[in-house]
Amino acid sequence: MNDDPRIETLAVHAGEERPGPEGSVVFPIYQSTVYSVDFGTQYHDIKYLRLNSTPSQNYLHGKLAALEGAEAAVATASGMAAITTTLHTLLRDGDHILVADVLYGGTHDFLTERAEALGWTYTFVDAQRPETWAAAVTPRTRVFYVETIANPLMRVARMPEVVVFAREHGLTSIVDNTFASPVNYRPIPAGVDVVVHSATKYLNGHSDLTAGVIAGGAETVGRIRRTLNLYGGSLDAHPGFLLARGLKTLALRVRAQNDNARALAGFLAEHPKVGEVNYAGLPSHVDHNHASRFLSGFGGMLSLRLTGGVDAAEALFNGLRLPFVAPSLGGVESLITRPALTSHAGMSAEDRAATGITDELVRLSCGIEATEDLVADFAAALEKV
Ligand code: PLP
Repeated sequence: MNDDPRIETLAVHAGEERPGPEGSVVFPIYQSTVYSVDFGTQYHDIKYLRLNSTPSQNYLHGKLAALEGAEAAVATASGMAAITTTLHTLLRDGDHILVADVLYGGTHDFLTERAEALGWTYTFVDAQRPETWAAAVTPRTRVFYVETIANPLMRVARMPEVVVFAREHGLTSIVDNTFASPVNYRPIPAGVDVVVHSATKYLNGHSDLTAGVIAGGAETVGRIRRTLNLYGGSLDAHPGFLLARGLKTLALRVRAQNDNARALAGFLAEHPKVGEVNYAGLPSHVDHNHASRFLSGFGGMLSLRLTGGVDAAEALFNGLRLPFVAPSLGGVESLITRPALTSHAGMSAEDRAATGITDELVRLSCGIEATEDLVADFAAALEKV
């Protein structure tokens, strides 16, 4: 590899042993939970699946770190395991979190349902308005937590400002980069401290496992890994193997998904039955200008409201032949859902209304189907709405 390989090359070759064990081109699954130990080995140094130290796990962690441009990475059993393990490592009783007000529903629910019992406080801030952040910082603020592209309104955080603000205030910046993926934005080289992912989505890309990723500096990831070892949310060998396989096609998949989302967003924005399309790749999107400064693609997710409201949304779902009506995202197949019933069902109706996640909002995760086929499918389904 040259000194500065592109993401397509990294996805295939980064972290690979050449040759692999026994000359293998594909790194094998070491399914063994445990390995023989030499006399005197410390407990946390033994090779054991829950301790994140088996050969397959070391291989996967190296590959993930290289893709993220990070010193170290560790995989977890789900995206929520990555998020909660990271926060449990970086926060103590009495600490305060600055957190973006539009968040994945599970992260929102974790904070609103669990933070108080843990002795943490938090303040929601608008990730697009840096001028409001300083007023929310307290002497106990430790962490600034944002999502690069926030579910489900596709608002894009002011990432360069987040990096500078966190540094100036001595905060650890944590970015959930699930929606962007390292193909569209690499937070660590941009100065973010810790990246978390639901690898269930784009990183794996095939809707057939749950996993999470934490990447960042070696010291910080080491501390988070220690928490993971104690809490037990480690990733098993077989999903780890599938995740490594999925990673190799990440760049190809995400570029196809970017293209599909951009084409569909353009088509839908012009359609008379569509009242609103949320996609930062559209010049009309409120975040388009600042997002264009640091995103190399706008992602495969978009959301929309039909002028006919909830009934029209249901009619659209019934008329579509390609997207599955299902939550989750990032797989090769298109998925369509109403976030108020799925990803954000845990929020109160008032919180949803305040953040624009109303009942008629429709969210689409574009797959890698042919663009023309997806557009034709939406055109035909909208005819019947
Ligand atoms: N972060 C984001 C942005 C998500 O969309 C999700 C799941 O939808 C998660 C985290 C949680 O991931 P998992 O379901 O793998 O725990």
